[in-house]
Amino acid sequence: MHASSRRFPAWSLLVRESRLAVLLLAVYVVCGLPAWADVVVNDVSQLNPIHVREVLTPTTIKQVVTAVKATSGPVSIGGGRFSMGGQTATDGAVQLDMRRMDRVVGFSREAKEITVEPGITWRRLQEYIDPYDLSVQIMQSYANFTVGGALSVNVHGRYVGQGPIVKSVKSIRLVLADGDVVTASPTENAELFYGAIGGYGGLGVIVEATLRLADNVPVERRSVVMPLSAYRSYFEKEVRRNPGVIFHNADLYPNGFDTVRATSYVRTDEPVTVLARLPAQGNGYAADRFVFNAVSEWPGGKWMR
Ligand SMILES: Cc1cc2nc3c(=O)[nH]c(=O)nc-3n(C[C@H](O)[C@H](O)[C@H](O)COP(=O)(O)OP(=O)(O)OC[C@H]3O[C@@H](n4cnc5c(N)ncnc54)[C@H](O)[C@@H]3O)c2cc1C
Repeated sequence: MHASSRRFPAWSLLVRESRLAVLLLAVYVVCGLPAWADVVVNDVSQLNPIHVREVLTPTTIKQVVTAVKATSGPVSIGGGRFSMGGQTATDGAVQLDMRRMDRVVGFSREAKEITVEPGITWRRLQEYIDPYDLSVQIMQSYANFTVGGALSVNVHGRYVGQGPIVKSVKSIRLVLADGDVVTASPTENAELFYGAIGGYGGLGVIVEATLRLADNVPVERRSVVMPLSAYRSYFEKEVRRNPGVIFHNADLYPNGFDTVRATSYVRTDEPVTVLARLPAQGNGYAADRFVFNAVSEWPGGKWMR
């Protein structure tokens, strides 16, 4: 058994490593760097970086068709990217960022219907229909998601008796994996319709949607606290069978989780007390964040709560 050692000046090590780097670069140039090496897509949480081949931002159905036809590998689709955990991109895929396909392409006040591209946000859709005194029939709690993203996860809201968003969709247009553009509705290509809504982009790219709208009516917020054991019969009697209730939610109080605050938004003829029809754009919510932080993170936060 013997030990040996070699000594050399530090600069020679540097030269050897530089040669290695040049060699690796040459290999990469000849063999081709993976094109997706540094194109990263992330969701709003910034916790799920995914390396995609490239990101395309189509503005027309034709561009979506061309992109799908030109790709033999995976295609992934992103809307507002509020779904977390890697649902909006796939490793090595061609990523379609749909946010620039965001136009209103048809609207009828009389029929109470609107046709939109999938990248439009609910907020922009609401701004469009509000002057006509119309309202979204079903949507989720926040308005900065895209219509395409909401349809693809089949979101639900707090609407009593309405179910998930699919019930408010008249039809969609879908680009399939072979580039075909099909219309799907409960009566036409129904399997594609029910598969794509709630299909997380797995069946094709939603490129258009026609949604039914509702009248925009004033509502009054009513809130009542009760034991959990009383909630079921309260819900059956006061909420489910009350056609005036438009939204409803119930919050359980920690730590016991045996007390409920039931909140209903009920149609009213009284004059409204909140005059703003839509919250102002660009609200930073800095004050809300400060208060949430204080009551959840600060010493004594629980006491303040
Ligand atoms: C704060 C918060 C509140 C929420 N509240 C609710 C709620 O009240 N009710 C509820 O049901 N959900 C709720 N969610 C979930 C939310 O509705 C979904 O995450 C919704 O998909 C977000 O829309 P997005 O535009 O960000 O879609 P993304 O997150 O970008 O995409 C969602 C899915 O749809 C696919 N997709 C996007 N666009 C298309 C397209 N054009 N064609 C085909 N597939 C597409 C994507 O590939 C992905 O699989 C909430 C989420 C957050 C973060």
